[in-house]
Amino acid sequence: MLTSLKGRTAIVTGGSRGIGKGIAACFARAGIKVLVVSRSQGEAEAVAASIGGEAAGFAADVSRGADCEAMAAFAVERFGGIDILCANAGIFPAAKIGEMTETDFDHVLGTNLRSTFLSVKAVLRAMEAAGRGRIVITSSITGPITGYPGWSHYGASKAGQLGFMRTAAIELAPKRITVNAVMPGNIATEGLDGMGADYIGKMESSIPMRRLGGVEDIANAALFFASDEAAYITGQGLVVDGGQILPESLGALEAM
Ligand code: NAP
Repeated sequence: MLTSLKGRTAIVTGGSRGIGKGIAACFARAGIKVLVVSRSQGEAEAVAASIGGEAAGFAADVSRGADCEAMAAFAVERFGGIDILCANAGIFPAAKIGEMTETDFDHVLGTNLRSTFLSVKAVLRAMEAAGRGRIVITSSITGPITGYPGWSHYGASKAGQLGFMRTAAIELAPKRITVNAVMPGNIATEGLDGMGADYIGKMESSIPMRRLGGVEDIANAALFFASDEAAYITGQGLVVDGGQILPESLGALEAM
């Protein structure tokens, strides 16, 4: 049983859909005041209203520094501080290297990686003032551990998040701010739905547990990293993937 986080405050970027929405709902159930962030004010507010508790919605493009600063200022004004940041917003459009434009590359790196730096930077003052903080980054298995054709830019952004995390964890350790990452496998979300039934079917058959993860699987890991019990864990990535990265070949799956 984890110590109650009731009354703590969290920002969840990319909270209007998928994994972020799952984290927001899980945190609200734990009594955490959640600021749900997405580029759509309406969708962020709708999720905030649906998860109950003291939640609010805020529109920000987290690839922009000014938006991240405004997001953090709103959270402080509304909730009195920021205890937890879930840097979760991300996109995964596919493009093979030959067809990928510089704009495609910059867009993915900006949304997934620069946003991690900008959102962490934006919450620092509030966390330093409180003398503690929890930062949970949503990375991936794709990039840090595995590869997938069409996602070289995405994989670079997700591996980059872990590189950023390790130095951030060292810099922020004296301030009692931890920085960790959840590394999801394939999780059933609105974003993943867009990949189509064929992709999802093949993915399910390559996962030893034979199912995609649910958003609650990632939310539970994020909640643990946000907990008091995780105070001595920093700079770590936790794979949550139903065993997806384990088989060394198709033969290993067929031998099950
Ligand atoms: P999703 O269902 O497509 O949701 C993405 C969320 O991010 C939405 O709330 C979206 O809202 C928000 N967002 C996108 N660009 C943004 C921006 N520039 N500024 C602010 N918010 C932005 O995606 P998901 O599948 O839940 O993925 C969430 C995270 O998990 C991503 O970082 C992804 O890389 C990671 N992940 C997912 C999986 C998976 O299988 N689903 C696996 C590994 C890692 P708006 O579009 O309204 O802004």
